[in-house]
Amino acid sequence: MTSITRVALFGECMIELQGEAFGAMRQTFGGDTLNTAVYLARSGSTRGVHASYATGLGEDAYSDEMLRRWLLEGVGTELVRRVPGRVPGLYTISVDERGERTFTYWRDSSAARAYFDVAETPLERAADALDALYFSGISLAILSPAARERLFETARRVSAHGGRVIFDNNFRPRLWADASTAQAAYARALALSDVALVTLDDERMLYGDASLDESRARSLAVPCSEVVIKQGGAPVIVRLAGAEPIEVHVVRVDRVVDTTAAGDSFAGAYLAARLSGATAADAAAAGARLAAQVIQHRGAIIAAELISH
Ligand code: ADP
Repeated sequence: MTSITRVALFGECMIELQGEAFGAMRQTFGGDTLNTAVYLARSGSTRGVHASYATGLGEDAYSDEMLRRWLLEGVGTELVRRVPGRVPGLYTISVDERGERTFTYWRDSSAARAYFDVAETPLERAADALDALYFSGISLAILSPAARERLFETARRVSAHGGRVIFDNNFRPRLWADASTAQAAYARALALSDVALVTLDDERMLYGDASLDESRARSLAVPCSEVVIKQGGAPVIVRLAGAEPIEVHVVRVDRVVDTTAAGDSFAGAYLAARLSGATAADAAAAGARLAAQVIQHRGAIIAAELISH
């Protein structure tokens, strides 16, 4: 196979500061869709799958350094838009004496939120050449209603020429005005998507379900031809159009160190496999294999050398 499968991932990557409040903090970067882009780039490079990250960045040194690091990971940056006068969002993770982690965010006026504040973005210019578009509930949450419509229209265009649209249901309640606004946006996204990647806990939170059975039943009924439901250490459920759902066992991990980016790494490996022709069951097994390694190390993006194939 000589042709390249081009995937664009839209979302927000922030600067991360981790450590003790008013003490020493270690700086890195992270964000759900960027994590997925990195893991997709790593898993996809040998499979003819090219991942590009679409987001807004500033013209500052932090933005420059993020771009440089993404390129080193093999993530394409041609869909990034530099937004004059804006800088990346930021969050701190402070760890207290008992190891409890507290997240604090400064992201209300981030460059990523302003991505669609121009007549045509790099993502929209590229839409007709994309084989797949991936975004998450967090990507939707940071956008204004008008910008969200622009993203939906981009998804519609990708679909119109046979590209695949993939929606990941990552849900952060505090980014939304209220649950019904979020539910309406999710319904729009799912109606436009071929593949739904569902974290069961997020589905439950979004709808306030009394039980996970309720969340599972709703997820299986979304109008996507492919639904992948992740349930932590329990099996992944895969449902393809017209077929009965199947269960794919995850890898047993005896010592979970940090579950950050479990779902993001799963998504990266799943999509690399699926977009290069693997069956959904094999792709889910690949996702589970990578996620099992990621959760045995600290941080969202673990060093490539730590991953065994
Ligand atoms: P998210 O990170 O989106 O909240 P999950 O917690 O469901 O999603 O985890 C995503 C995937 O990571 C799971 O489907 C599984 O493959 C892997 N995973 C997560 N927790 C565990 C665990 N305790 N043991 C083994 N695998 C796990």
